[in-house]
Amino acid sequence: METTVRKNFIYELIDRDNETGRFEGRVHTRFPPEPNGYLHIGHATSIILNSTIAKHYNGKFNLRFDDTNPAKEEQEYVDSIVADVRWLGGDFEDRLFFASDYFQQMYDWAMALVKKGKAFVCDLKADEVSRLRGAPGTPGQESPYRGRSIEENVDLFTRMKNGEFPDGSRTLRAKIDMAHPNINMRDPVMYRILHAEHHRQGNKWCVYPMYDWAHGLEDSLEKITHSICTLEFEDHRPLYDWFLDQLGIYHPQQIEFARRTLGNTVTSKRKLLELVKTGRVEGWDDPRMPTVAGFRRRGYTAGALRAFCDEVGISKVPGVSDIWVLENAIRGELNRTAPRAMAVLKPVKVVIDNYPEGQAEEMTVLNNPEDPAAGSRKVPFTRELYIEQDDFKEVPPKKYFRMTPGQEVRLRSAYIVKCVGVDKDASGNVTAVHCTYDPATRGGDAPDGRKIKGTIHWVSARHAFPAKVRLYDALFTVREPEDVPEGEDYKKNLNPNSLEVVEKALLEPSLKDAAAGTRWQFERLGYFFADPKDSRPGAPVFNRTVTLRDAWAKIEQKTA
Ligand code: ATP
Ligand code: MG
Repeated sequence: METTVRKNFIYELIDRDNETGRFEGRVHTRFPPEPNGYLHIGHATSIILNSTIAKHYNGKFNLRFDDTNPAKEEQEYVDSIVADVRWLGGDFEDRLFFASDYFQQMYDWAMALVKKGKAFVCDLKADEVSRLRGAPGTPGQESPYRGRSIEENVDLFTRMKNGEFPDGSRTLRAKIDMAHPNINMRDPVMYRILHAEHHRQGNKWCVYPMYDWAHGLEDSLEKITHSICTLEFEDHRPLYDWFLDQLGIYHPQQIEFARRTLGNTVTSKRKLLELVKTGRVEGWDDPRMPTVAGFRRRGYTAGALRAFCDEVGISKVPGVSDIWVLENAIRGELNRTAPRAMAVLKPVKVVIDNYPEGQAEEMTVLNNPEDPAAGSRKVPFTRELYIEQDDFKEVPPKKYFRMTPGQEVRLRSAYIVKCVGVDKDASGNVTAVHCTYDPATRGGDAPDGRKIKGTIHWVSARHAFPAKVRLYDALFTVREPEDVPEGEDYKKNLNPNSLEVVEKALLEPSLKDAAAGTRWQFERLGYFFADPKDSRPGAPVFNRTVTLRDAWAKIEQKTA
């Protein structure tokens, strides 16, 4: 894979470390998800950032589950995350780790701090701990248990581990400084008591490490060089450093960057879970979801997501990226790679009055004008066709170059035809459009060079087959749906039209064999993906990945 990257400030920091030989020139990053949900676009950013850095410096990249909170973690999430990281190109080779595998080492290190007088067992309840912590600018107060002897702390911490005390009755806290200007340094909790079933450890542990205590140890054990995390941990870095310094163990560098979210969607795991649980979407992999699984099912590619991340960049300032930036990245890739095909979503019948009944011709159509190597295919043409309802107007608006009475229009790679009349039902709806064709224009070009401004797609009525096509739109109607006034429900901004199902689109016959998981451009309509779950051999179901922007500007001026 190409590793030309747009360098951001993180690369500069790493370059500096490499110049001074701080990590002997090694670069080793990691992605540390909590297995409590599916990965979303924000996580994808972090995976791509970390794995691209590793690749760029010929370094290593680890996948590590931060499974220190037994309550919300599930194997389903572990499995989906592994699949998503791989799909995004995060190559962790055989380095798949679980923080829970380090519990014994973490405990031993905590005990070492207890024995150095750097940690103590505190009997305050959670609300008292936070009350005594103080506020920014106001010092906190020391716990009345802070002065316990080392012997007593060793004894109590051992018994905490052995499960002798109820949940929430005691904690192990670092002994730092209750007047420290940084609140995170005010005797932070390292362990809490929790009698819970852990997805990997079962009931072995009755004490669970807090994030700030655990994370640096995990990084240190894995010999991570640059521990890249999001901005909310910036104020926690002094604590990250303090723990490692007190233990005197290998010390990685924490680097923070700003979260970036995507417009017209939500990225909070809690909200995504709510959308799944309440049936607002059809699951974590619903193609409308901003999850990696949803993107994959929509037909996005890992390459396009990488291109998007590169475009958006990494910074210290949080921001929202517009969906169209992501969509442009997808279009850019699919325009080069997706074979074209013709599909009619909302059909109206066209009858070519002067075309012989019963005749069928095989028209040669290019598979991808952007890629000569893609070759061509044969598409059957007959007297009765279907075109899009939108491509016919009895009374045309200005500059309407499609099918309208008296005007010539090109049927893609077939013939130039002219509308000569319409059939209507009793209530005046058009039931068929009548045309004549010019036999001298086979392939779509007029030998006399006369200019035909419009080109439309079509399928042969006799040969087309019906298929389900799902059209997706943004999940929310506003750019920042999480930004609702206090007391209002973000779900009020859900887009009621985010999914439109066309039960019987009419597709050209070659699409019948479209394999599940293949990508196509339906000419003039957009890029579509043969759904991997719902497609059956000979009966594909298509998801619209993205529309074709500028389709008109391009197609109407091009001579086929
Ligand atoms: P929570 O902690 O609320 O469950 P989280 O989004 O922090 O949610 P984690 O599983 O802890 O979820 O995240 C794994 C990694 O992904 C972390 O290193 C985190 O910094 C990073 N990450 C999460 N969201 C974003 C985002 N929007 N942009 C960039 N990185 C993100
Ligand atoms: Mg987190």
